Amino acid sequence: MNKTVFALTSSTLAVLAFGCQPRTKTKVVEVAKPDKVYNFTKDSYGDPIEVPIFDTSCRGQRGAGLGEGIIAEAYMGVETRIVKTLIEEEVWENSKRKDIARATYESAVIGNGRPVAICQDAQTIPANTQEGAAISMKTQAEAAHDLYETVRSQGNIALSSLESIYLNAAIKETVITRQVDKNENATETTSYATDNASFMGGENSMLISYPQSESAQKHKLNGGIPLWLVPGVFQHEFGHYIFFSLMNEGGASFTSYQEYAEKNPDLHLFQTPVANFARIAESPALRSSLTDFVRTQEFFLGSLNEGFADLWAYYTLKQPTSMFEISCFSKNRNVSSPVFYNGISKSWDEILWNKAFHSTLESDLTGDIKTPIDGCSQPIFADIHIIGAAIAHTADAVFTAAAQAQPTQDATRLKAEMSLAWLKSIKDSNEFEDLGGKASLSRILNAAVGTGMNYLKDADKTAFCAVVSSKFPMLVKRWKDAKTDNEDVLGVVNFCSL
Ligand SMILES: [Zn+2]
Repeated sequence: MNKTVFALTSSTLAVLAFGCQPRTKTKVVEVAKPDKVYNFTKDSYGDPIEVPIFDTSCRGQRGAGLGEGIIAEAYMGVETRIVKTLIEEEVWENSKRKDIARATYESAVIGNGRPVAICQDAQTIPANTQEGAAISMKTQAEAAHDLYETVRSQGNIALSSLESIYLNAAIKETVITRQVDKNENATETTSYATDNASFMGGENSMLISYPQSESAQKHKLNGGIPLWLVPGVFQHEFGHYIFFSLMNEGGASFTSYQEYAEKNPDLHLFQTPVANFARIAESPALRSSLTDFVRTQEFFLGSLNEGFADLWAYYTLKQPTSMFEISCFSKNRNVSSPVFYNGISKSWDEILWNKAFHSTLESDLTGDIKTPIDGCSQPIFADIHIIGAAIAHTADAVFTAAAQAQPTQDATRLKAEMSLAWLKSIKDSNEFEDLGGKASLSRILNAAVGTGMNYLKDADKTAFCAVVSSKFPMLVKRWKDAKTDNEDVLGVVNFCSL
């Protein structure tokens, strides 16, 4: 890959879609008709904590940068400005009046930052510095890439090698949100991206870390440390890179998802703050745009993307504590947890199926949520990370059962291979173009079960079939239902005598 000096561009920022969006701290600036402004203050997380440069005298010529292997080049302290404009309108659709929200999204680099340069033993560099952030991101990304390379060299599926990727440590991002409602009342808010991480696809794929906020530190959100130090976060982001690379190879199945995602970066959050949903619930146009999204094919492909990224982090991690054990991620995002934080089971029974297709923001937003941190563990089923977590847990359950039937092989490598084989089988089917939400989710889950069946080969199927029955009851029902004749492509009903 070309290693000329790298700058963020609008086109690369525009494909934020596959990554995750930062939490924001917001201050309302009233620009018109102040009696009708929207209340954005619930988004507040406090100011970002300044991330210092550890060694300002260290330059590229004297010390090595981090650009080697899977890392193309690492930058730190880049400053960007994002302008989001939301215009609410009333439209008539089939003789019914409807509120809609049109959104535009622009980005600009306002400060180039500098290449990461390391002039001393990396282990002696403090983690809360720009260089420390870059080193931690690199370590995590390399672990995720190592697992991919292990599968590529030892596994039984054909995989391309991945191009090297850029790192962008401790980015300073200002987010300006302009909202104009249908009565032309307008607000403008300025936010700072904090407490998150993202992957951006495109010409220069990159991993990005954002600073911690004062409020997150005070409330011990994310374990009280910057997210780049939490094991699993950049393994997850690298998982998005793998997803993006695999799904873009040929195949046109995902065009609609990509297009949708590029236009709606707000819907793809690393961990969606409950306050964002609360704000959406207050605005009829935003609420209807979310409602239009949650039942669609794009929503379930977005959920698959998030679920796969969690699986990849889970298979890569060897640390005793990680993102899966800390506040806001425990249970909900922990692949091994059979339940969500509120006790709802991560199996595709009637309750979860109804949540996926019939829950409303109002029914999910319960309890007394005064700050975004209060509700950070509350599962909201309009969030692709939550549906993704159920996809990840249930896919892992069948992969684990299939791997247990092959005791001579390394289970983690085998399950990582199955997760890639699963994505490839979904992509190769190339049948997503015209599917609705239910058929899309079915196809995604069918492909996980089918992958497990393929890896089971001639081994005893008792444990595997028990997992299929317990984790996919609604799918079993659909497979047996004559109306869904196209879906039982796996023959799992006969295979397991369901
Ligand atoms: Zn993600």
